[in-house]
Amino acid sequence: MSLAEQLDTVTGSAAGTVDRHATTETFESTAPAGGAVVGVFPVHDEAAVGKTVARARVAAQQWAALGFDGRKQRLSAYRGYLARRMHELADLVHRENGKPHADAILEITLAVDHLAWAAGHARKALGPRRVSPGLLAANHAAYLEYQPLGVIGVIGPWNYPVFTPMGSIAYALAAGNAVVFKPSEHTPAVGAWLAAAWRAAVPDSADAFQVVTGYGATGAALCRVPVDKLAFTGSAATGKKVMAACAETLTPVLMELGGKDAMIVDDDADVAAAADAAVWGAMSNGGQTCIGIERVYATEAVYDRFVEAVTTQVRSLRPGADGEATYGPMTMASQMEVVRRHVADAEAAGARVVTGGPSADAFPAGGYVPPTVLLDVPEDSPAIKEETFGPTLTITRVRDAEEALRRANDTTYGLAGAIFSASKEKAMDLARRMRSGMTSINSVLTFASVPALPFGGVGDSGFGRIHGEDGLKEFTRAKAITRQRVPLPVNLMSFGRPANAADALARVMGMVHGRHR
Ligand code: NAD
Repeated sequence: MSLAEQLDTVTGSAAGTVDRHATTETFESTAPAGGAVVGVFPVHDEAAVGKTVARARVAAQQWAALGFDGRKQRLSAYRGYLARRMHELADLVHRENGKPHADAILEITLAVDHLAWAAGHARKALGPRRVSPGLLAANHAAYLEYQPLGVIGVIGPWNYPVFTPMGSIAYALAAGNAVVFKPSEHTPAVGAWLAAAWRAAVPDSADAFQVVTGYGATGAALCRVPVDKLAFTGSAATGKKVMAACAETLTPVLMELGGKDAMIVDDDADVAAAADAAVWGAMSNGGQTCIGIERVYATEAVYDRFVEAVTTQVRSLRPGADGEATYGPMTMASQMEVVRRHVADAEAAGARVVTGGPSADAFPAGGYVPPTVLLDVPEDSPAIKEETFGPTLTITRVRDAEEALRRANDTTYGLAGAIFSASKEKAMDLARRMRSGMTSINSVLTFASVPALPFGGVGDSGFGRIHGEDGLKEFTRAKAITRQRVPLPVNLMSFGRPANAADALARVMGMVHGRHR
């Protein structure tokens, strides 16, 4: 029997990942396509979360004591387990989140790759090293190392239920922490599957990665219990609540929040490639991608050709639940209303809806939103200002790349973005000045697939980083140690120092630093 089947039949507790005795209240996870029940899961209250975190505290000590090599070996076993069961997990992601099976495979592939990188690079990024003691402490040896924090709480969203939380889970585990994960109430089966897989692949450290399930209150309990750091991925509105709750217990937070990412298409861009990337960046996963492209600013020189190429492509896209569909239904039915409002508001303000439904009312039933391209949308519209999180794309004509950059940066968000230009120098300059944590040139979303690159935003898109060395360090505290190798004849940090020692020190400082003006 597969892990997924076990989870379905016994309330998510088959592999011991979810403690069903901790609470009597349960909730159902249903498939966005058709509404079938995917699984029934406990609603963990604060007491249950507390018990789970207590088990994680014990596990954290054993996990940390394994050292980099011991953890790497076990994280490799986990990665192998996931890689061997990709289709099973992808099926579950397809059922519970709604995205096509092939997209789920892509998502799991990325997560597995990050697991490999985090485990393989933890020692180099975090391990003990000697640093220069400098002039004043030349008789000491100086050591730096990055120690695990203890137990990391991870609260995740539903849109990439494997890749997104794994960006915190893999890096936190590789850094030597235990993890308690609260998946979205829309994708608890995927979260429970990931923890069950851990238990099966790494039985001697089973409690190092556990799952609690429930709604927002279960996530809030993680802040209060508390954990040693809370890694939150979700909307900015919820992020503020999580920060406020964590402030009560002085629990540090990592915030991976929403975005309103823009693409700039410059005069000399490869228009066909830009259009292809924009359509994928905007419409894949039904547009439910935090780093998805929601706005395009195309210069006058390329605007008409770009619009033509995008609309031609978009006409061939079709949402659905079958194997041929290009993307699935909205995972959260309530998101339909947000998308509908943004499209209707843009239309009322004079925007042209080039493809998709002729008007917002034409959205079909069943959670399927047609691919929708909006032209001439006023810059103060919700479709430009707010995260839409649906398969929509605004395309705006601008004079040049500078105007495009100014408009791209005119947002409270700052997660990612893309630039299409044939000039490496110009594109690099624009990328540096784009107010975002990540930018890809002549492609979309690529930075997410480079494990060495940090992932995170600025402004309302959050702070802190997952992935890369920064992502490993995010789940550690820097520890500084000095060791005196030989005593100095004169100890400046002693009440027994000679009266003229300070004058001698001032003379030396004058010689070393005084010549700098
Ligand atoms: P959400 O904010 O509604 O929920 C996220 C998680 O927070 C869920 O697990 C939810 O149960 C939990 N939660 C809700 N209230 C809580 C509370 N008071 N205390 C603690 N936890 C609470 O977000 P969502 O709808 O699941 O996800 C979509 C959002 O996530 C979008 O804004 C998207 O852009 C963002 N996102 C960001 C990234 C990133 O890396 N920056 C990645 C994926 C998604």
